[in-house]
Amino acid sequence: MSKVPEMFGINVFNDKKMQERLPKSTYRALKKTIQDGEPLDLSVANVVATAMKDWAIEMGCTHYTHWFQPMTGVTAEKHDSFIQPNGDGVIMEFSGKELIKGEPDASSFPSGGIRATFEARGYTTWDPTSPAFVRDGSLYIPTAFCSYTGEVLDKKTPLLRSMEKISSEAVKILHLLGKTEVTRVITTVGPEQEYFLIDRDLYEQREDLKLTGRTLFGAKAPKGQELDDHYFGAIKTRVSAYMKDLDEELWKLGILAKTKHNEVAPSQHELAPIFTTSNIANDHNELTMEIMKKTAEKHGMVCLLHEKPFAGVNGSGKHNNWSLSTNTGENLLSPGKHPENNLVFQIFLAAVVKAVDEYQDLLRATVASAGNDHRLGAHEAPPAIISMYLGDDLGEMVDSIINGEEYVSHGKERMQTGVDVLADFKKDTSDRNRTSPFAFTGNKFEFRALGSALNIGCPNYMLNTMVAEELSQFYVELKDEKDNIEKAVRSLVKNVLSEHKRIIFNGDNYTDEWVQEAKRRGLLNLKSMPEAFSHFLDRKNVELFVKNKIVTQAEYRARYEIELETYCKQINIEALTMIDMARKKITPAVTAFVRQMTDAALAKKALSADIPTSVEENLVKSLSNKLVCFVNKTTELEEAVMGASEHNCDELEYAGYFREVVFAKMQELRAVGDSMETETASDFWPYPSYYDLLFGV
Ligand code: ADP
Ligand code: MG
Repeated sequence: MSKVPEMFGINVFNDKKMQERLPKSTYRALKKTIQDGEPLDLSVANVVATAMKDWAIEMGCTHYTHWFQPMTGVTAEKHDSFIQPNGDGVIMEFSGKELIKGEPDASSFPSGGIRATFEARGYTTWDPTSPAFVRDGSLYIPTAFCSYTGEVLDKKTPLLRSMEKISSEAVKILHLLGKTEVTRVITTVGPEQEYFLIDRDLYEQREDLKLTGRTLFGAKAPKGQELDDHYFGAIKTRVSAYMKDLDEELWKLGILAKTKHNEVAPSQHELAPIFTTSNIANDHNELTMEIMKKTAEKHGMVCLLHEKPFAGVNGSGKHNNWSLSTNTGENLLSPGKHPENNLVFQIFLAAVVKAVDEYQDLLRATVASAGNDHRLGAHEAPPAIISMYLGDDLGEMVDSIINGEEYVSHGKERMQTGVDVLADFKKDTSDRNRTSPFAFTGNKFEFRALGSALNIGCPNYMLNTMVAEELSQFYVELKDEKDNIEKAVRSLVKNVLSEHKRIIFNGDNYTDEWVQEAKRRGLLNLKSMPEAFSHFLDRKNVELFVKNKIVTQAEYRARYEIELETYCKQINIEALTMIDMARKKITPAVTAFVRQMTDAALAKKALSADIPTSVEENLVKSLSNKLVCFVNKTTELEEAVMGASEHNCDELEYAGYFREVVFAKMQELRAVGDSMETETASDFWPYPSYYDLLFGV
């Protein structure tokens, strides 16, 4: 374990292994495909396939799988062994064709009505830009997934397309600005992942956690996060052993796991990797989430990735750190010492500002889900209002550009600790603003509204596409101004920032004043998933993706249907689980406890009329009243669920019904249930308490 560099990437068919194992010409051809996006020859694929297979067999593999990211939001895999009959026995074979193309049955994956079940054929195609790896005896090949007729059925293909699109638009702009040496621009992402760890035995006793990923009942524990003692607190031995194991597993897979710490809520933690190219970051984040869960099993725990496993304490999010860099190694969102003279930075900043303002509805929609509805706007996560934080320095620069005033950079101030043994250091130019959904953090933007369980493909392809679109509009405006480019860029930046400055907000996003102010500015406040999706099909949004050839209109609409359907299904499952828990466990348990209290009171009375029985009687009365209410609310919830089908003619209305009616009834039922929990002896309560769950590891 002392040798992390040797362990790193040991399970990955990475560049080093390709160089060692491939003939020079094959390696060069493959590199060309990876770096410049050139099509790959079957003859090259054949050689690569054999080398991959030989390596995988040495690593103990018997199978391979195309690994893809269908619209379910979780990854999919189907394993085939390498065996080929040979005389009486078998040999291990793997061809270029098998590497390049797989044929999973597409009919059982969500397609939003663009595929009928009889047209079941689907294809997975190798994404050579994301390296293959081995896990549990199989060779995993990252792939994109489409239907027989070519419809995109996954989250990966649009991401790859958006990366190409933003690259070509950014390169055009850079060439105009004289950076002709740049041939590619790469989007980079570093996703910070939050999660909860709880004891496996306790988890097994809670059907709500098992079926829905979150607790549907549960009275608050006497202690939550009010003492702020968990965030960055000392890590418990059991959790620490888990984190060590997790890091090692991730490193072996070439994942740049970097930071780990306790988060705000008890039992909540975070892992952040070092950033990398978007599609690899996407694959790595999916892998990280899977390995988090698997590793937890080994340690007798369960890793919860749901956005809100526990009411009353913080939920989990994912910060999507995003930037752009050139193939020559320049970060395009790095302001440098003099941002006021850095036209490259200014123009890319302007593109992001314009994109976030014009497509705030899409950014909101891309993070919308049943789980994230519990977080956004709940004073633990950014509000549902999308705005941008630039920090004081950059904010001042933007103001000076808009007002046509000269800007003097403050530069980096020295931080004086006032203690001789502590070294003084340079302060960052921007503070952190934890309340902003979209914050500039030095040389990248941090999109903070993502839920912890979300596949990052969608927010990233949307972000890439909207910024690409703005860049393409800038190019049209600038392309004939080559001789006067500086003046033209300055004027464009000034116009764009003036027009879109309403999206910039450097204050506290958690206040009511901001909600009012945002309304005055005309910013959207889309509070729930169905509200967020009410703008998804707006013409400008459809056109954005169709024009930039990221997805077709039909594919885009399919995504809309799938997301709304998933939302309804999730709430439906939650409601049914609650009804089941209420009827089969909670009601009988409270009845039994009431019976015991009644028996106790009667027994006391039989013994002597002098013994007080008010405690038992009050409890019996209180719980009996609540139980009547609880049973009524259970029936009401059931009726609400049954009534849903009447609203199923329109996806948006259907989702709205689940939010406004079904979810509201769930909240009512939960309130009564939680209140009964506080009065029922724990021996009788059928589920482990919040105290057990949150402090049980
Ligand atoms: P914090 O958000 O706590 O301030 P850091 O600033 O260290 O933490 O960065 C958080 C994440 O941002 C890390 O995953 C880091 O790799 C990533 N990051 C840093 N630079 C970039 C970049 N240029 N592009 C994308 N992500 C980046
Ligand atoms: Mg962060």
